[in-house]
Amino acid sequence: MNKTYQPQKVEKKIYRMWEKRGYFTPKIEPKKKPFTILLPLPNANDPLHMGHVLFTIEDILTRYHRMLGEPTLWLPGGDHAGIETQYVFEKALAKKGKSRFDFDRETLYQMMVEFTDKNKNINKNQLKRIGFSLDWTRYHYSLEPSILKTVFNTFRKLHQDGLVYRGERIVNYCPHCGTAFSNLEVRYREEQGFLYYLDYGILQIATTRPETIFADVAVAVHPSDKRYKSLVGKKAIIPLVNKRIPIIADNAIDVDFGTGALKVTPGHDQVDFEIGQRHNFEIIKTIDQDGKMINLPEKYLGLSIDQARKEIIEDLKKKKKLIKTEPLKHQVGFCYRCGTTIEPLTMPQWFVKTKPLAKPAIEAVRKGKTKIVPKKRFEKMYFDWMENIQDWNISRQIVWGPRIPAWYCLDCHPEIAVNFIDKRDRKVSGKYQDLKEKYSFVEIKKGLQQLTAPTEATYSLEKGACKKCGGKNILQESDTFDTWFLSGQWPLSTLGFPDSQNFKYFYPTSVLDTLWDILFFWVARMMMLGIYRAKDVPFRVIHLHARVVDEHGQKMSKSRENVIDPMEMIKKYGADALRMALTIGVSPGSDIALGDDKVRSMRNFANKIWNIGRFILMSLEASKEKVPFYDSKMDPKLTKEDKEILKDLNKLIKDTTKLIEKYRFDLAAEGIYHFLWHRFADEYIEYSKKRVGKGDVTILSVLRHVYLNCLKLLHPFMPFVTEEIWQKFPRKTKEPIIISKWPN
Ligand SMILES: [Zn+2]
Ligand SMILES: [Zn+2]
Repeated sequence: MNKTYQPQKVEKKIYRMWEKRGYFTPKIEPKKKPFTILLPLPNANDPLHMGHVLFTIEDILTRYHRMLGEPTLWLPGGDHAGIETQYVFEKALAKKGKSRFDFDRETLYQMMVEFTDKNKNINKNQLKRIGFSLDWTRYHYSLEPSILKTVFNTFRKLHQDGLVYRGERIVNYCPHCGTAFSNLEVRYREEQGFLYYLDYGILQIATTRPETIFADVAVAVHPSDKRYKSLVGKKAIIPLVNKRIPIIADNAIDVDFGTGALKVTPGHDQVDFEIGQRHNFEIIKTIDQDGKMINLPEKYLGLSIDQARKEIIEDLKKKKKLIKTEPLKHQVGFCYRCGTTIEPLTMPQWFVKTKPLAKPAIEAVRKGKTKIVPKKRFEKMYFDWMENIQDWNISRQIVWGPRIPAWYCLDCHPEIAVNFIDKRDRKVSGKYQDLKEKYSFVEIKKGLQQLTAPTEATYSLEKGACKKCGGKNILQESDTFDTWFLSGQWPLSTLGFPDSQNFKYFYPTSVLDTLWDILFFWVARMMMLGIYRAKDVPFRVIHLHARVVDEHGQKMSKSRENVIDPMEMIKKYGADALRMALTIGVSPGSDIALGDDKVRSMRNFANKIWNIGRFILMSLEASKEKVPFYDSKMDPKLTKEDKEILKDLNKLIKDTTKLIEKYRFDLAAEGIYHFLWHRFADEYIEYSKKRVGKGDVTILSVLRHVYLNCLKLLHPFMPFVTEEIWQKFPRKTKEPIIISKWPN
């Protein structure tokens, strides 16, 4: 053995050996119960960050169960990451002075395929570098045909069962990104705004958004509000245009907000939209998808929202319709990608009815079919969200993703609005009926970027001629699926639902481990869709871990300049050191602080293990007598100290096993650390030196026995250094440590 341990020289070589010999690929053995984990699929276009290294927890479980002799599958994958990737791609386009609207859909998609192909393998190699024992023969990418087949089939089945619908609904729209987001994706920040009190004739209303007054359809008050009781049924007047609108009563009104009278704007507010639905009001839009003003007096037409607000306030003042202005701190939704204020707009979108899907997913957790760990904090979060779940908007107006498989007939619906790039590379927008003299269907189809079909437009889920009129001018929905609609079916699609051998054997999976912040985005959706299609939960245990922060407890972010690149750490200290540093800090539910010092101290631990091994190995080689393998027949020859270390080893084995089973990886790692360093090295090895010097083979047997068992216990945590030393030791069996038997 070399004098010092050099992880940089060892780790890649060992990983290649494991992979080449197929240790990561389980065999299907029908008589044995398998152990399965799906890796939370990282964005295939991004390098890994420190959070990904925390999947070490999954590697610990995988390696542990593999050593128990179970057919063990840890399945890797990569996510095309729809909006995330398109956003990065568009930023790159912008640098060249281009935008996505300069290309037709096919060209744009092809450009993005090339853009992403370049990066796809970067994080695969990084996952290998951390030592993750993933079964690469079962790797899947979210846009593979086999994955999409399941996704499309689920969509069709949901549609058949009446759980998918197309509706004009309020969506969270980012005018900059040009797409809607689900409610979950909207972030909020507190902003200093103003509450404007406006004269609406026989009453006053208060609003933060005076620019939307022209989209008002009513004024609403609470039915029990005595101030307004006599006014219900009468008319209020929208200033500047003197339009008369009804005053209605609705329970949704907060009597303490402003004047207690609310202008109802179903086209631009979620609550108002719901009020409008209850009272059958029309929807008026005064803001379009580019964030420009429409359907209002000519002087404001085409203005941006901010400009319009300024001018409208000025005009209200002039007409003495602005009564007062109060400062108001309020929560404003913004786009998590680009920071633009989210506009609530109505658009025809595809929605999944989630209530019927959530019900069995709630029950599965209540009945313990799936356990959430740690239970205390996250079970309640899960129930709260699932019980109040809202329909899921799965439409995204982006190109990077699979298009929703629904087709509209232009002959039946000439009113469909299309948006395409023509032969001369110009963007053309308009209704099909207005354009069909100038452009052929083929031209439109070829250059198509987006289409907006009215809510009432009939569609077919089958490609081909229109069933109604036989026409062949059929256009596919231009919206793509929300990425989470794909990853929400990951346990089904990657295992080959419904009839592959893999699926039958490995589903339900054993554990799903992930960062807690995607409990709703991902975990809950996998639960709903997994149960819906497979009639069984997708995983037995949901283990939620916390995020990695810097040594001062701060979130790692580029703007704080405190991001630690895991690959740099591995280059400096080795993968084992980084893994161990993270694992020791990982207590359930709380943040994991990580800094250079911590990783360095674990590198020192790897050196310590190496030095202990070197001492024992050299002593074995120096022995004149053959050193027998320890077994209990040797007991009469043992000293009190020998017996004690063996007893302590047994306790360590029991404790480590129990702690891994209970997901207390931090305590398990600490236990092994202290045993090896303090109990074994500082006490027992120091004590042994005299006897070793005298050529006592009994103590050599005990030293080797305790040490090799410790290596096994440590292997799931620090796989490389343990394998490297293991290979150098004379042992009973030839097999590498990765498939050796877990001690008991
Ligand atoms: Zn945006
Ligand atoms: Zn038709």
